[in-house]
Amino acid sequence: MPGEGGLVINKYEGVIKRYREFLPEIDDRHIITILEGNTPLIKACNLGKIINPVIEIYFKYEGLNPTGSFKDRGMTMAVSKAVSEGSKAVICASTGNTSASASAYAARAGIKSFVLIPEGKIATGKLSQALVHGAVVMQIQGNFDEALVITREIAKDYDVTLVNSVNPFRLEGQKTASFEIADELGAAPDYHILPVGNAGNITAYWKGYREYYDAGKIKKLPKMLGFQAKGAAPIVLNHIVKEPHTVATAIRIGNPASWQKAVAARDESGGLIESVSDEDILKAYALLASNEGIFCEPASAISLAGLIKLNGRGFFKKGAVCVLTLTGHGLKDPGNAIKVSKEPVVVPCNKNSVLKVMGLK
Ligand SMILES: *Cc1c(COP(=O)(O)O)cnc(C)c1O
Repeated sequence: MPGEGGLVINKYEGVIKRYREFLPEIDDRHIITILEGNTPLIKACNLGKIINPVIEIYFKYEGLNPTGSFKDRGMTMAVSKAVSEGSKAVICASTGNTSASASAYAARAGIKSFVLIPEGKIATGKLSQALVHGAVVMQIQGNFDEALVITREIAKDYDVTLVNSVNPFRLEGQKTASFEIADELGAAPDYHILPVGNAGNITAYWKGYREYYDAGKIKKLPKMLGFQAKGAAPIVLNHIVKEPHTVATAIRIGNPASWQKAVAARDESGGLIESVSDEDILKAYALLASNEGIFCEPASAISLAGLIKLNGRGFFKKGAVCVLTLTGHGLKDPGNAIKVSKEPVVVPCNKNSVLKVMGLK
């Protein structure tokens, strides 16, 4: 498109237009986008020295999507498709970010959104998003898995579109993150590390890499390394967890909808799915923020906690390229940041006192 002074501007128009040839068809007039995707792939600059100086670590910072999580990549597809089919309302169960994203895209589309969240277990930032975007928010006296069962039943029998990741269009949109990474690196990484909750994202990334491979855009596939929190690790334990618990509320899920697909992604890629303790998640969370200037939410930090765990047993060979998805922005859940940090210092209101604290006097 010609801009001022004859300059050619490549206007970014969201993931659907960017990767159209790899996505289900959708008419231009039905596309609902808030320009999700196109997120930065940031090379670690200080953590390498601390963790392992001979591997390459990159962060795919999905917290910079319009509603602050990767859910927007899938939501643009799911809501566009819903609109193209004449749907007037969407519904989801959510640990927080799906509801934030669904309500924002529904607002953009001018349709209704209904969200079911586990009472008291979602981060304040996420709750505020669903509310401000005008969703009807229902706090269910139960957990995510139970809320998902209810939403699936309602969507089956009534005229509302389910936009959880069991909606196949969600995964279609989410796979575009793999394309962006491969486009930027000019290849797939050796390892792709990410959190596993309902297991839609690991499924979507693997699908994306495989499609790029089949199209000849990349010459090898990455190994998929997924991580669950110790108290919510059904795939690792190989059984449903009835009462999942973890500080990483976004992955507090005991019966993942895409369980088998995640296992397939793990096995086909020659990867693994393991668990990490809450303590190690919070350590990684603080380490990342204080060494790289990147603030993600606890569930996202499990990617780094997982890398540190594997690195501790000599898992990575020299030169290994590791991409870690940081699924959501830290500002969604600032309470945890305050908990893991030093308290602010209270100082009398004069220059000398300030200089003392600064160590300059
Ligand atoms: C949804 C979410 C996850 C988990 O993704 P799944 O696709 O459910 O496995 C992880 N981190 C954040 C921040 C999320 O919002």
